[in-house]
Amino acid sequence: MKVIDHINNSKKTMFSFEILPPLKGKDINLIYEVIDPLMEFNPKYVNITYHREEVVYKRHKTGLLEKKTVHKRPGTVAIAAAIKYKYNDVNVVPHIICGGFSKEETENALIDLHFLGIRNLLVLRGDPLSADKEFMPEQNGHSHAIELINQIQNLNKGVYLDEELENTTKMDFSFGVAGYPEKHFESPNIETDLKYLKDKIKAGAGYIVTQMFFDNKKYFDFVDLCRENDINVPIIPGLKPISIQKHLTILPSTFSIDIPKALSNELVKCKNNDAVRQVGVEWAIEQSKELIAKNAPAVHYYTMGKADNIYKIAKAVF
Ligand code: FAD
Repeated sequence: MKVIDHINNSKKTMFSFEILPPLKGKDINLIYEVIDPLMEFNPKYVNITYHREEVVYKRHKTGLLEKKTVHKRPGTVAIAAAIKYKYNDVNVVPHIICGGFSKEETENALIDLHFLGIRNLLVLRGDPLSADKEFMPEQNGHSHAIELINQIQNLNKGVYLDEELENTTKMDFSFGVAGYPEKHFESPNIETDLKYLKDKIKAGAGYIVTQMFFDNKKYFDFVDLCRENDINVPIIPGLKPISIQKHLTILPSTFSIDIPKALSNELVKCKNNDAVRQVGVEWAIEQSKELIAKNAPAVHYYTMGKADNIYKIAKAVF
């Protein structure tokens, strides 16, 4: 079933979450350890993030630095299939990105997903590589999520890259896209960001999942602004419970988001990361309660590979 149908059919706010593929060398059971306890809250779908290759530098004994490209968290497509196989009632939503893929590689990945019976996607551009100042598309790849959407919509009509193919199978992917209550970090202003968001919706995205935020007002204002700009699809708030002291600085700089003073005041008082984790849980519970009270279509949690904090939040509010 499509995520958008779940949203439209649900009479109450749904619980949803995303998982990360395990680090290379680790076992797939780590994924199940995250998902198993969360099944109690009846998720209708599970998102699986995609992590492109990273550039790392290895220092040799000679002092020479070697530049290497590593894929630390491979396996998004296989994990989506494994979850679909293990948890029958749950739909899977693999994230698909532009970064690192040529159009042909994207087409082949979409063919794999379609063969596996996977019909839901979250369509994204991906971030620039840490070594690059700005996002660099792959040769013959896509520069923005909208281009990837157009490729998916072509496949939904049976139009493949090779125009000579005849009697092709039409795919039937349904998908959501990302939205940024505090504006995407590259965008000159929220109006420009919303213009491009609207293009993604016009091109066929059925819903929006937001970047994390810690002040619900940012989400409610964003929803109002979207509606004023004729963006009328469901907007799912994304929440990430803070879990380590370093998040205080890493999250604002990485995602260009604010941490409200009341929250940062509580976090700086914490003596260790256990205390930070508890503050993060309590803050996310309050955020979730208000979002549910105001009828958010779903609340989507970023698990970051651990479920104990998400379990406590879900237990308190779902
Ligand atoms: P785009 O829609 O392409 O927008 C990127 C920037 O370009 C914005 O500033 C936008 O205003 C502008 N823009 C858009 N279209 C155009 C255009 N046609 N011309 C000029 N400018 C344009 N990253 C991953 O690598 N893997 C993941 O699994 C992943 N999951 C995510 C899940 C969620 C819910 C969210 C919110 C983000 C996720 N990301 C993920 C991060 C995402 O890839 C980055 O935020 C990325 O920098 C932007 O992606 P986008 O799809 O919003 O890009």
